[in-house]
Amino acid sequence: MTKPNDSMLLKANLKQLRLPTIGAEFEKLAREATASNQTFEQYLLRLTELEVATRQSNAMTARIRQADFPVEKDLENFDFSASQAVNKQKVLELARCEWITQRSNVCLLGQPGTGKTHLAIALGNSAARHGHKVRFFTAAGLVNLLEEKQKNYRLDHFLNQLDRTDLLICDELGYLSFSRAGAELLFQVFADRYERRSLLITSNLAFSDWGQIFQGERMTAALLDRLTHHCEIFEMNGESYRFRESMKQKKQPRKKS
Ligand code: ADP
Ligand code: MG
Repeated sequence: MTKPNDSMLLKANLKQLRLPTIGAEFEKLAREATASNQTFEQYLLRLTELEVATRQSNAMTARIRQADFPVEKDLENFDFSASQAVNKQKVLELARCEWITQRSNVCLLGQPGTGKTHLAIALGNSAARHGHKVRFFTAAGLVNLLEEKQKNYRLDHFLNQLDRTDLLICDELGYLSFSRAGAELLFQVFADRYERRSLLITSNLAFSDWGQIFQGERMTAALLDRLTHHCEIFEMNGESYRFRESMKQKKQPRKKS
């Protein structure tokens, strides 16, 4: 039997050692261990397993929060039959995240409503679950932030932060145009990641029109050359999923009241 004083000291030690799950569970598990004749090692193993599992789960939740996804989307609710341009096997392979370990890129190109943002978030989610650091930005949001950090002399600090993320997601490149300075900052971020960190970019513009974003053929060519060197490209053209869903709803006969 543990004396009450021992139990208090043990709790204090576990707190100091930052082992909260063990602190919360050791008494209950000790009773179970006694009842089922577990060895000391088995008891200790079960306790440490619980602590490790809780930490892993907390870290994953923190990574998903830090990624800052605008909404929750995953692959389970992505309808592959609605999107013929998207090869399901390829996407499932990307969800295993080897491309991030290999520091390669993904580009999702296509018209609005074809599921680019959905897939980008789903792949980002899966990366965070696999232990990768992920950050999600819209292109306009990222450029604004880069310009703001530059104005406040915090650009290097911010670039270092971005450099520590394994996967940078840049959504909606091409919807809004940037100033020359903004485009150059974005170019710098993208180019710096070449063969070092992964990028996932979604755009409504075909590569041939990216000159509009980066204002100038030279910068665009230099960027595309790096970006597409190790890159999985999906051309997601087709009818808008949103549009199709809303048409389906309209076609359904109204219930009689
Ligand atoms: P895009 O970024 O290409 O404009 P979104 O990813 O925002 O398109 O898709 C628009 C809406 O339609 C979102 O709510 C998204 O979840 C949904 N959607 C698009 N494609 C699919 C799909 N194949 N299966 C399920 N939902 C989809
Ligand atoms: Mg989108």
